[in-house]
Amino acid sequence: MGGYRDSPEQRIFESIEQFDDCWIANLGASNSTGYSLVGYGPMLNRKKSCSHRIIYEWLFGKISDGLVLDHICRAPNCVNPFHLEEVTQRENTVRGVGPSANNSKKTHCIRGHEFSTENTRCYTFNGTIHRQCRMCEKNRLANAYRRKLCQASHGSAQS
Ligand SMILES: [Zn+2]
Ligand SMILES: [Zn+2]
Repeated sequence: MGGYRDSPEQRIFESIEQFDDCWIANLGASNSTGYSLVGYGPMLNRKKSCSHRIIYEWLFGKISDGLVLDHICRAPNCVNPFHLEEVTQRENTVRGVGPSANNSKKTHCIRGHEFSTENTRCYTFNGTIHRQCRMCEKNRLANAYRRKLCQASHGSAQS
């Protein structure tokens, strides 16, 4: 069971302070935007990455090129994967400063699924309504589940 100390997910989970709605990571390190950072890899070649990204990719798999994670809860150090949404870099910048009304004008999610009544799940965070594409959510969960099953049958897969 070696490598426990080097598992960034484990360290992030251990540092979570509030497991209520937002999972606030408290690893002591954060960058200028307030994202929680975690170090991993061999001592001589230590890498740092955003904790929320590590958790998200650990659960749902790699984020597609050109996409970044946006916190729909607006807590930069929150690592709850269900509070994260894949958006384009540009959209993230716009949404970070602009009114979240931008969000409600979108008719389709980033993968082109329509935000119809059946396909939309609404969250309320800090008094604002956010929408989540159910189709994407379902796909992500199915992928995550398959990955976990695969890892379980192949032993602990290090990627
Ligand atoms: Zn959150
Ligand atoms: Zn979608």
